[in-house]
Amino acid sequence: MPDDDDTLATSSHHDWLRRAEELIPALPVAHRVAGADQDGSGGTFPVVSPRDGRTLALVADAGEKEVDLAVAAARRAFDDGPWPRLAPADRGRALLRIAALVEERRAELALTVALENGKPVTEAYGIELRALANTFRWYGQLADKLTDEAPHTGPGALALVTREPSGVVGAVVPWNFPLTLAAWKVAPALAAGCTVVLKPSELTPLSALALGRVADEAGLPPGVLNVVAGDGPTAGRALGRHPDVDVLAFTGSAAVGRRFLRYAADSNLKRVWLELGGKSPNIVLPDAPDLASAAATAAWGIFFNQGEMCTAPSRLLVHSAVAEEVTAAVVERAAALRVGDPLDPATEMGALAGAARVAAVEEHVRRGAEAGARLRAGGGPLDRVPGGSYFAPTVFDRVTPAMALAREEIFGPVLSVLTFDTLEEAVALANGTEYGLAAGLWTADLSVAHTVARRLRAGTVWVNCYEEGDLTVPFGGYKQSGNGRDKSAHALEKYTELKTTWIRL
Ligand code: NAD
Repeated sequence: MPDDDDTLATSSHHDWLRRAEELIPALPVAHRVAGADQDGSGGTFPVVSPRDGRTLALVADAGEKEVDLAVAAARRAFDDGPWPRLAPADRGRALLRIAALVEERRAELALTVALENGKPVTEAYGIELRALANTFRWYGQLADKLTDEAPHTGPGALALVTREPSGVVGAVVPWNFPLTLAAWKVAPALAAGCTVVLKPSELTPLSALALGRVADEAGLPPGVLNVVAGDGPTAGRALGRHPDVDVLAFTGSAAVGRRFLRYAADSNLKRVWLELGGKSPNIVLPDAPDLASAAATAAWGIFFNQGEMCTAPSRLLVHSAVAEEVTAAVVERAAALRVGDPLDPATEMGALAGAARVAAVEEHVRRGAEAGARLRAGGGPLDRVPGGSYFAPTVFDRVTPAMALAREEIFGPVLSVLTFDTLEEAVALANGTEYGLAAGLWTADLSVAHTVARRLRAGTVWVNCYEEGDLTVPFGGYKQSGNGRDKSAHALEKYTELKTTWIRL
């Protein structure tokens, strides 16, 4: 499969369709355990493309037994294998080799994500795959740059505070960024010296299974990264309750996050790290440096990745003096957005993750209209590719804080516009949610930017932009959006234990 940037930049719809036909029969369908394919005895389940309803593959379905085998492989690799004992620079080099191989396979992996998830292949290639390679590269480069502490104690003692790898990590991730979110767990865990069992979403296991193969090809010792496919209530639960898993790193819904806390309480009190949902506010003040850009970014933010973003700016809080101007611009953008085949490079918004997602989003829209919000754009499914799961970019205004539209995470392309008159009101509206993942703020006043940013109870605050950043900054939530942080050096805290060694001199 040709894979250089130039070829891809000029790839036509026809080229991607042809590549898909070549790729589908070769998609990986077996678990990846201890460096080898394992079919297991749990039967198979179909992975259906939301692009057109086609069954892409029948994938091995992990039951408790398969999860046990994967955890045992990770345990052996941690307890007896070389990985945790390697010089950090050598672990780093292995991660850099994974990054390089990911880049070689970039088109194939991007296409796998687009087919199983429904997002535009150009975004899978340009955003998700770039993030995947960058994440492995960043943690590979970081691996040997860390130092421990020797606190100042009295003259009679030497104290050392060292970080040690926590052990076996279970990583359970969702379908909206199947590779990026896996990498945000796997790369820092491996850099820290842990071994991993990754369980992707049952909707999007194919790219993660492919990543498991790439990691083995890059020379990870067997058992360091294992990937099992299976559903949440069986495979996810088995990982969550497993006595040999030391750390459980989860990204997904708050409801399932709660379950992992229970699994840990009922088993071995493993550390549980949660990256959960959001209902993020995006505040537009009348002195925004550029209202047109604020509106364009608000639209881009809510419709990017079909709205299937934990950080989606799903509540647009706009000052009443500029509310109509901003809302009209967002509505115009929603109506103009090209929704269509994920394999067409002209597509700006692809398919939702499946028929069940379309039904769930439709239900939110129905209840929103019933509650009295005004539908300004979209509002229902679209026919694009026969059998596919397409939904129109949707905008409601006249939303009030009590409405479900303002409170519940929709995880689809639905924007709720609320208005305010004072800064106090804006901050109260912004914080009036059980979530606290992210927030946006548009103002030209430096002092307002800082004071409001300080008052927003969110893990990330974007000022005069949205969804920007790189691997240097932590990512995660306040309140019911989770605990701990992915990305940055802080992510290593999730996969290491602090040890104090006190030596009397
Ligand atoms: P989900 O919680 O339904 O599933 C996530 C993972 O948990 C999947 O692998 C699934 O198989 C597994 N799972 C489901 N039920 C389980 C159970 N009973 N026991 C154990 N495991 C189980 O979430 P989803 O629908 O895949 O993803 C959407 C959610 O993820 C949204 O709430 C979104 O906000 C959140 N999300 C958060 C972030 C973040 O970084 N904060 C990023 C992306 C998505």
